[in-house]
Order: sequence, then structure tokens, then C-alpha cells
Amino acid sequence: MKKLKSILETIHKKNPGENEFIQAVSEVFETISPLLNDDDAWLDQRIPERMAEPERVISFKVTWVNDQNQVQVNRGFRVQMNSALGPYKGGLRFHPSTNLSILKFLAFEQTFKNSLTGLPLGAGKGGADFDPKGKSENEVMRFCQAWMQEAYKYLGHFIDIPAGDIGVGEREIGYLFGAYKKITNRFEGVLTGKGLDYGGSFLRPEATGYGLVHFAQNMLESINEALEDKVCLVSGAGNVSQFAIEKLLEEGAKVVAFSDSSGFIHDKEGLDEEKLAFLKNLKNIKREGIEGYAKKYKSAKFHKGSNKSIWEIDADCAFPCATQNEVDEKHIEAMIKNKLILLAEGANMPLTQKAIDAIQASKILYGPGKAANAGGVAISGLEMTQNRMGRQWSKLEMEQELRIMMRNIHTHCIDSIRQYDLKEGDYLTGANIYGFKKVGKAMIAQGVV
Ligand code: NDP
Repeated sequence: MKKLKSILETIHKKNPGENEFIQAVSEVFETISPLLNDDDAWLDQRIPERMAEPERVISFKVTWVNDQNQVQVNRGFRVQMNSALGPYKGGLRFHPSTNLSILKFLAFEQTFKNSLTGLPLGAGKGGADFDPKGKSENEVMRFCQAWMQEAYKYLGHFIDIPAGDIGVGEREIGYLFGAYKKITNRFEGVLTGKGLDYGGSFLRPEATGYGLVHFAQNMLESINEALEDKVCLVSGAGNVSQFAIEKLLEEGAKVVAFSDSSGFIHDKEGLDEEKLAFLKNLKNIKREGIEGYAKKYKSAKFHKGSNKSIWEIDADCAFPCATQNEVDEKHIEAMIKNKLILLAEGANMPLTQKAIDAIQASKILYGPGKAANAGGVAISGLEMTQNRMGRQWSKLEMEQELRIMMRNIHTHCIDSIRQYDLKEGDYLTGANIYGFKKVGKAMIAQGVV
């Protein structure tokens, strides 16, 4: 579509050097022509341009003192992307590579993901270029307090509700929450992913990984397949990966590989409950690299360096759960050769555009992150509801809710595929169209604001 091409060119010019952001916007806009062709209002109202422009971008200085009494200077951010469906909602990333391009891509993706959950959630993303690795407990606490000292002005349980992402887990959320409470004198559900004793929800830590596996099950069911006995690769070894592995094992799959920033592990015999507990202890308590796993288990080999060639291992299903652009077109070629059946994204935008083009042209079932990893934000949405009600629902209730929400997201994708006569199994276009349409309709209804 000519008009869309020129819109993308303008967005490109307006956001120089923001490669990840441009990549995420292009990925969505290049798929939605079937919807835009249906009604002139989308372009007359300039919905694509309005969606690609954050409502507000906050960038701020975070100064704190390390254990050696040296002053440290970091950069903090919050991107408030879109509030058409509800208050801004999306995670915080603490990683040295964090910059505006990455956070804008994540916030943009979040718009469609949150729309797919069916919950009243707008979209945002934030964080800092702070590296929690190698920092003492007190340093992490002081950094979180310093971040919140500025960010609290822009947050609130009906305004903007951050959660975790890379480098931000329950520990960091606890320190951020404590700082918000101290500064504002308000005990409110301003963050999700809190500890169970102070407003957290059952199943929030598990939700992204478990939800990913539920989504994959739905995809496999649609081709009369199941996860049982499938050989699986899971990249990363953090929150999403650990719980994806846990659920895969519960469903009878065989997980033979995982990774972190130091390299990857190939365990030919596969993980079991005990090995997973060892991995969790290594990453969450000792906060060490995964090499220790291969020292403990003889069936495992550690491959030092990039985690990338994990994708060359022969398998049935692949779950990239580490970071953006971790899978390129050469990896997809290897997967095609190995007759991989399914790839579902736990991470946000783990495939490069060329990898997406290659997988879309192949027979591999491809579950895009904005649908497949939406379980985390969906349960976060329910944590917000519980906080507003002053209640805590049981683990069983949350498990049922997660299964239902992931099934509904799958159904939304399939409905769009049918309605717009898309290629069978084109979850990417289905998810993009569903997410865009709902947010766009709400924007039009709310006028030019
Ligand atoms: P964590 O920080 O818990 O874990 C990230 C994992 O990925 C770590 O094992 C890390 O290794 C590894 N990793 C990071 N960068 C690289 C890299 N360049 N190469 C290899 N491994 C790498 O983060 P999460 O599990 O929360 O997030 C993982 C992904 O899932 C991200 O893309 C995030 O945006 C996405 N996501 C997360 C959600 C959530 O609820 N947490 C929700 C939806 C999506 P190391 O330990 O060595 O640093």
C-alpha cells in the first residue's frame, strides 16, 4: 500500500537511529493492509501515525552512591505509549543496553499485546541503563529508590503501572514499591509483580512462561499435535525461560537446551524437576552463569560465547525467551532443515525481520510474542484488579484465568485470520490486525486528543 509506505518513511525520518523501534513499527504496519483497505477512517484519522507517536516520553537522571562511596550516574526512562484502552502498563528493563529505541519498540509492541488480552490496559515501558549484575543487594536497593525518586511523579494505579522485564524481578519491584510508598504515603497497586504478602498475585512470576506454553498448546492443537514427547529448545535462563521450561516438563515435553548471556547448555538427556531446581538456584539465588550446570550434570555440555547456535540443535519446538533479535534468518534455515514444527516467542521481537520473512514463508507454525507472551501482562492486569478490590484470588483461580486468556488470544488471532481471509496459520497478521483494530477504534471514539 503506497500510503503506508510513505507513512513508514516519515516515521523513519522522525526517529533517526532508532533501529529497534523502526523494526517493530514496520513489522506491524507492513501486515495491516487488509484492515486499512476496509475503511478509509483508519488513514483519514491518521491512526498509524498516532499509534507510532508515544503520548509522553520521560527521560531522567538517576544518581546514587555505590558501596565504595562513589557517585554513579544512570539514565532512567518511562515511555507512556498509548492510553486508549486503559492506564499505561508495561515492564521496566534494567540492562546496560537500555535506550530509547529499545523502550519505544517494547512500548509499541505492548500496545497490541495489551489489546489482545481483552483487559482495559494501555501501553508503556521503561527502565534504565543500570546493570544489576555484580551489584550488592544494597546497591540495587539504592538504585531502585533513586529511580523512583523521579519516576513516582508520573506513576499511579490509575495512571501508569510498571512491572518487571529483563533485570527487574520481584526483588527490584519490592524496592521500587517501598520507595513509592515512602515518597507518596500511599499503599496502592502502582506496580505489579509484587511479593504475595503485600499485594502480589498468585501466578504472576509464572504467567509469561506458562502462558507461552498454553499458547503453543493451542497452536499445536490446531494441527492435531501436542507437546508430549516434543524436543524443545528454550533460550535464556531468566524468569520467562524458567517457567516456560517448568510448564513444558509438566506437559511431557523434553527440554534439551537453554542459554544465558555467557553461552548455551545442550543437555541431551533433557531437564527434569531436579535439574530445573538447580538452574533456578544458580540464576536466582547465586546469580551466576549457566556453566555450573554442565559441571554438575555429565549429560550436559556448555557452549561458551553467543547463545545463538542453540537454534541449530535438532528439535521439534523452539521458544526464544532471552532478548530481541536473537534469531536471524540463518537460524530459521537450520530449523527448517531440522523439520522444526513450531516456534513461539517468549521474548519480545526475538526474530529479525529477515527471520520473520523466512519463517512466514516456511511450514513452521510461528507464534508472535505479542500474542504468545501476553500471559504476563494479563495476570498483571488481574493483579491490578485484585489490588483495587483489596482481595487476593487463589492460585487455582489464576491458573484457570491464564488458560482462558491464552485461549481467547489464540481465538482472536484465528478469528482475524478467517475474517480477513489470511493465510492459514498466519498468527502474526492475525494478532497485529486484532490488536490494531481494537486500539484504533477506541482512539477514534475518543476524538483527536
Ligand atoms: P530476565 O532478566 O529474567 O532473563 C533474561 C535472560 O535472557 C537471562 O538469562 C539473560 O542472561 C538472557 N539474556 C539477556 N540478553 C541476552 C543475550 N544478548 N544473549 C543471550 N542471553 C541473553 O528477563 P525476562 O525473562 O523477564 O525477559 C526475557 C524476555 O522476555 C525479554 O525479551 C522480555 O522483554 C520478555 N518478556 C518478559 C515478560 C515478563 O513477564 N518478565 C513478559 C513478556 C515478555 P544473563 O542471566 O546472563 O543476563
